[in-house]
Amino acid sequence: QAKQGDGNQTAFYDARAATIAREYIQLHTALLQALNKNEFSLFYQPQTNAQGQVIGAEALIRWINPEKGLISPLHFIPAAERSGLILAIGEWVLQTACMTLRSWQETTATRGLSLSVNVSTRQFYQEDFIDRVTKALQLSGANPRLLKLELTESLLADDLNRVVDTMKALTNLNVRLSLDDFGTGYSSLQYLQRLPLHQIKVDQSFIKDMLNSHSKNEAIVRTVLSLGEAFGFEVMAEGVETLDQLKFLQQLGYRQFQGYYFCRPIPKDQFLDYCKQYNYNSPGIRH
Ligand code: C2E
Ligand code: MG
Ligand code: MG
Ligand code: MG
Repeated sequence: QAKQGDGNQTAFYDARAATIAREYIQLHTALLQALNKNEFSLFYQPQTNAQGQVIGAEALIRWINPEKGLISPLHFIPAAERSGLILAIGEWVLQTACMTLRSWQETTATRGLSLSVNVSTRQFYQEDFIDRVTKALQLSGANPRLLKLELTESLLADDLNRVVDTMKALTNLNVRLSLDDFGTGYSSLQYLQRLPLHQIKVDQSFIKDMLNSHSKNEAIVRTVLSLGEAFGFEVMAEGVETLDQLKFLQQLGYRQFQGYYFCRPIPKDQFLDYCKQYNYNSPGIRH
């Protein structure tokens, strides 16, 4: 009986694998077309300080497909990473973000705002990544001090010496570096000490049920702040969704926030309107 069962299982898995492979190739082709047809777009999510002023934004990619509408990066960035297409997409993101940053420098409502750009591990490990960043800055004329590259802890799983060298070369360009989704990955305290970071972003999963009485996340959120400050990093809380969360984080001493409570990621034009409206008066923060 086992024999027949195994045979069916194998056939089942072969079919499954074939379907997955086909879907994967389809997605790769679709992403390549999307890139050529200019279907990607950057949205911007405001970041605020303790006074409620907008201090910057994070650029977040969206795929706007004529048939399927708006597609979340969670649905295509992992595939793009596996297929290597993330390099071309990431290049487009970097160049587009730098152009935006330059335009912000020339507009009163947005002057001086920083722009955070997500960099995938594969992109960071490109031999000529430094040159690519240099070129994007030169072509756009963006101020490197206002560009923040968001790296993730998965970077640290590989060759730490090389990572530190690349990070140092980036900071020599005066670009700022941030460690995204902090607390979910490979960081050890030893690593943290060696990295030329400007900021860590506490992962939103810790903020989410921080106020739940059984949650240990309150302790984590508290500890990460003092840890980050001890290392001299700015510490940003991600995924702030409610006024209660914001108040609590402020009491703990957090001074940088990003989340739906303030604003979702929005297109460039809307972001400009948001800045005009809220630059000195974000919702829900008393002065
Ligand atoms: P991330 O870099 O950690 O970005 C934060 C994500 O949290 C964004 O999702 C944002 O829309 C979402 N978010 C912000 N505030 C809240 C909140 O209050 N509540 C909740 N539930 N979510 C919130 P998004 O835009 O779907 O992006 C998902 C991930 O995709 C990003 O996570 C990042 O890892 C990746 N990604 C996005 N754009 C790019 C890009 O241009 N390049 C690369 N390599 N990755 C990107
Ligand atoms: Mg990010
Ligand atoms: Mg994050
Ligand atoms: Mg994330």
